[in-house]
Amino acid sequence: MSSDTSASGATAAHGPTALRQDGVAARAAQLTKAFGEGETQVTALDSVDIDIPRGRLTAIMGPSGSGKSTLMHCLAGLDTVTAGRVWIAGTEITRLKDKELTKLRRDNIGFIFQAFNLLPTLTALENITLPTDIAGRRPDAEWVRQVVAALGLQDRLRHRPAELSGGQQQRVACARALAARPEIIFADEPTGNLDSRAGAEVLAFLRRSVDTLGQTVVMVTHDPVAASYAHRVVFLVDGRIVDEMDAPTSERVLERMKRFDASQG
Ligand code: ADP
Ligand code: MG
Repeated sequence: MSSDTSASGATAAHGPTALRQDGVAARAAQLTKAFGEGETQVTALDSVDIDIPRGRLTAIMGPSGSGKSTLMHCLAGLDTVTAGRVWIAGTEITRLKDKELTKLRRDNIGFIFQAFNLLPTLTALENITLPTDIAGRRPDAEWVRQVVAALGLQDRLRHRPAELSGGQQQRVACARALAARPEIIFADEPTGNLDSRAGAEVLAFLRRSVDTLGQTVVMVTHDPVAASYAHRVVFLVDGRIVDEMDAPTSERVLERMKRFDASQG
């Protein structure tokens, strides 16, 4: 891990509840997550310190079982932590009650999952505006129009998910995540169910949403090609951050992954 991340993490572990608005969209300090008890206990995350900078696409990369999804779930307040602290948009979520956490998630976080998770009975447009509708807010029509245009979905808005290709469904899920202009979007293996061409479209869009729309995105992946779309890659092995890479290429990410495999035997 780079020294700046561990230094700020160490400060955060003992600092005040509220984060300064200092360009950090999400932060974890000494985050530990264990599943089960006694001899069958699994430590999925082991004292992880991480800062997610605003306005960047950060990839969390690692082999299967390294703790990527667990890290995403803990950062996003979808799962409780065993120890440590997590902040989103300046608020320490590890101190919130369920109701407050639900509201913070709804108002600040967008999600994109491998399995798209669209509602089959709703049209594409209804799926896109569903989270803002549920939150009782009026979607910003001009913003939604921009997002839909950027994703090339103008002609598909009245279609139901079953009438769309996998790539189109995932683009609808991207538009849904962006529609509420959340502080941060978490994407867990967003191209895992797509062929390489549809995957490349979704990845290019996620990167553009950061570079031209100012979004913050965290993407979990085990695919070096997907990771190469990020500004920065964080490598996770056995629940620990073991390295970081700026301006990654798929070749360099693959090389780095091979060295982990070799060192693990
Ligand atoms: P990744 O997303 O990198 O494949 P996960 O975060 O899903 O890894 O899992 C990390 C470790 O935690 C694995 O050993 C996995 O078996 C374990 N794990 C994840 N979720 C649970 C759970 N709900 N109960 C028990 N063990 C779990
Ligand atoms: Mg996973």
